[in-house]
Amino acid sequence: MFWIKLGIVLGTFGFMEFMAWFAHKYIMHGFGWAWHKDHHNHHKGFFEKNDYYAVVFSVVASSSIIYGNTNPEFWYLTYFGIG
Ligand SMILES: [Zn+2]
Repeated sequence: MFWIKLGIVLGTFGFMEFMAWFAHKYIMHGFGWAWHKDHHNHHKGFFEKNDYYAVVFSVVASSSIIYGNTNPEFWYLTYFGIG
């Protein structure tokens, strides 16, 4: 069971690395450009609109962990969220 859980965490992590690259190239520079353009314009304070992406993804990951923890039949969502 440990290796299955570790595999889900590492597999999701690797997948998200690919997704981050893919999303950056095709989504954030596409219809997501309104949030993202600050990211390529580094002279305006500490926070950028680009940070919304981190917030949104964090909420998705946290929700997966919490839902997986409170619903035993969806236990794998916990490890998906960690990844
Ligand atoms: Zn970019």
